[in-house]
Amino acid sequence: MKFYNTLTRTKQEFVPVKEGVVSMYVCGPTVYNLIHIGNARPMIVFDTARRYMEYKGYKVNYVSNFTDVDDKIINKANEEGVSSEEISARYIKECRKDMAAMNVKPATVHPQATQEIDGMIHMIQKLIDKGYAYNVNGTVYFRTRKDEQYGKLSHKNLDDLRSGNRELKVTGEEQKEDPLDFVLWKPKKPGEPYWDSPWSQGRPGWHIECSVMSKRYLGETIDIHAGGEDLVFPHHENEIAQSECSNGVPFANYWLHNAFLNIDNRKMSKSLGNFKTVREISEHYDLQVLRFFMLSAHYRSPLNFSADIMDSAKNSLERIRTAVSTLSDRAANASVQELTAEEAAKLEEMKKFRAAFEEAMDDDLNTADALAAVFDLVRFANIEVTGDSSAAFAGKVKEEICSLCDILGLIAEVKEESLDETIEAKIAERQAARKARDFARADAIRSELLEMGIILEDTREGVKWKRA
Ligand code: AMP
Ligand code: ZN
Repeated sequence: MKFYNTLTRTKQEFVPVKEGVVSMYVCGPTVYNLIHIGNARPMIVFDTARRYMEYKGYKVNYVSNFTDVDDKIINKANEEGVSSEEISARYIKECRKDMAAMNVKPATVHPQATQEIDGMIHMIQKLIDKGYAYNVNGTVYFRTRKDEQYGKLSHKNLDDLRSGNRELKVTGEEQKEDPLDFVLWKPKKPGEPYWDSPWSQGRPGWHIECSVMSKRYLGETIDIHAGGEDLVFPHHENEIAQSECSNGVPFANYWLHNAFLNIDNRKMSKSLGNFKTVREISEHYDLQVLRFFMLSAHYRSPLNFSADIMDSAKNSLERIRTAVSTLSDRAANASVQELTAEEAAKLEEMKKFRAAFEEAMDDDLNTADALAAVFDLVRFANIEVTGDSSAAFAGKVKEEICSLCDILGLIAEVKEESLDETIEAKIAERQAARKARDFARADAIRSELLEMGIILEDTREGVKWKRA
């Protein structure tokens, strides 16, 4: 299995520090709003990386943080007149819901920055003791000139950066020894959350959070550190500087970065205001469609969002699901149960699709080609499994499609029961709305169900439903 490593700028064979075990850290969102589908891209692609490594037999320790102390959270709290904790707790809860709906597995640990302040103070003190950091009036900075390796991840020309950053001197950061020095600890401003420290009452800088949480939950040298490509500089460069200067060993062996999700060929972001939340998308599509859309491109290629591409993702996913449902029917209605010799030979031939799938995934997680292998398998199924096939053959082919989809976190078999449960839940919600005399909501639920092909009948015995 090969990954493209931003650190070495090459595709490299993956060799974990400890045989059979993978330690992986993925920078998570700052929680001050519902996540947008740009944030969902790293969640989906690195969850897929994790699932694939688990499939290959690795035990994956997967850590992904929530940044729950930040200017944006404080601003939002002030706007609403509530505490920062209330804002971050609310959006962590919402984020977890979105992740579950996108079939992103919960991390082994989801640490929160505010719960790890002691570790951060400890690492900052160590950096000061070793001469890598300095305190000016309660603000602690990292001394980038002291770190000879600084810049190795982003491959930036530091002299250019330094001259380009001279204007910082006039933005109130004149206390810094060097324009590239960055904040490890900053003093509180009135009304901000703060913690006691040897330097000032204040809070940690963003970069130190990840260095500390990664070390605490995964150790000093980890296998994979990942995130969006906007994090390469300065966030990840700074994480490397802090961790390696304090621990004295390499921080992460493989650095993986996803390209942006764009809209109208510009990065989707909260600051540009051109974003769509995962929640909004879920009102129009099954989030499995979003997942399919994300995986239809290689994670290092930019991906443009549009309704057309989402609709085409929806059709493609439907094609897989229709094939699976046909295979179920064929298995259930087959007149022959046992595999024939000819079918056994076909199953041997079918192995080539899994081989192609693995070859694509082994090549730096080429999910686009892996999906192409799934579609080749679907085509094989549609041709080879007929009304005369045995139940065993139809069942095995169906299992193969479901199993490859499952590695990608795609659910190929939509269980009827789960559809029934959704319908029952919607009906219960409609009854509650009617009881509360919220007839607009009750009508909206009726139309939603109608769109799903479900007709409601209000009878004396209660509400009944049937398929249109
Ligand atoms: P943030 O909440 O901005 O710190 O972002 C959380 C994660 O989402 C980081 O890994 C970012 O790199 C990633 N991210 C944010 N916007 C996009 C985008 N438009 N496309 C891909 N990844 C993104
Ligand atoms: Zn981080």
